[in-house]
Amino acid sequence: MPIQQLPDVLVNQIAAGEVIERPASVVKELVENALDAGATRIDIDIEEGGARLIRIRDDGGGIPPNELPLALSRHATSKIANLDDLEAVATLGFRGEALPSIASVSRFALTSRPSDAEHAVRLEVDGGRIGAPTPAAHPAGTSVEVRDLFFNVPARRRFLRAERTEFGHIDDWLRMLSLARPECQIKLQHNGKQVRLYRPGLDDAGRMRRLLDALGDGFASQCLAIDQEAAGLRLFGWVGLPTASRSQADQQYFFVNGRAVRDRVVSHAVKQAYADVLFHGRHPAFVLFLEIDPRRVDVNVHPAKHEVRFRDQRLVHDFLYRTLHQVLAETRAGAAAAQSL
Ligand code: ADP
Ligand code: MG
Repeated sequence: MPIQQLPDVLVNQIAAGEVIERPASVVKELVENALDAGATRIDIDIEEGGARLIRIRDDGGGIPPNELPLALSRHATSKIANLDDLEAVATLGFRGEALPSIASVSRFALTSRPSDAEHAVRLEVDGGRIGAPTPAAHPAGTSVEVRDLFFNVPARRRFLRAERTEFGHIDDWLRMLSLARPECQIKLQHNGKQVRLYRPGLDDAGRMRRLLDALGDGFASQCLAIDQEAAGLRLFGWVGLPTASRSQADQQYFFVNGRAVRDRVVSHAVKQAYADVLFHGRHPAFVLFLEIDPRRVDVNVHPAKHEVRFRDQRLVHDFLYRTLHQVLAETRAGAAAAQSL
């Protein structure tokens, strides 16, 4: 075969293979977009584990009508414009890939209305073919509908698991995002029934309520709030007491500048800090937020953006370890003192 330029739709489908693994990846990308748009309310409707329908509505800033087609084209983003922006990026998205990828592997519709526009505009895309924009009724904000995910990629469609499993993944991602952005109300429905309501809250009481909504009383009643700063780093959130430890590592949430990440440096520091207070085979529970100058961390490591690279790994590791170790040592000393009374 001669060398030839691949058509756009195929390029998008190939990109979708990297970022869109299952319905939960769609939900994650779309909710991140809503959060980046400053939404204070996000409503999510799922049917059949997301295989039939994923619909996400937000009350964020919306997309101007003339920019709608751009939102669906590859490498088009309103979030960065140059390398400097990339190095200091504060939004969850920046690659300009999610919407075109999702639209290329589903029956897709985007409806949006900025608050100063008279009406909304709707664009439908069927397996990558973009229709003509039409006026639509919609409050200020954006709705995205994704039907029949992977209908045109049979290999992917076949790998979808049972409805309950796929919905479980969606639920897990939303729990994570709900912890990252307590100021935004998030409602989740499955097959017409409300499954979760994450109530908004920014003050201490509100954040505590969010913790309860997301992780339940088992964690919320057995954790310590922490907030420490050193060397331009800030670590805050909640560490589970040894009594809140788990047989699996399923309640471990770590956010870097509001982005959920999995990181070896972080895991190692946390594990070491807990080593003295946990029995072998037990896993700590925690919800921790690290704030760091965005220039000291690279988020452009992986298309799905679950990974980061710290410029100064040692410093981050030692700060986490020392902070957590100290808090946990104090609780141990407290428990010992209480026992000796
Ligand atoms: P990225 O988030 O990396 O910029 P996306 O493909 O997810 O790329 O979205 C493309 C663009 O569409 C965004 O940069 C943003 O300007 C716009 N957009 C997408 N979703 C929303 C939304 N819910 N509200 C407002 N604008 C949106
Ligand atoms: Mg995005």
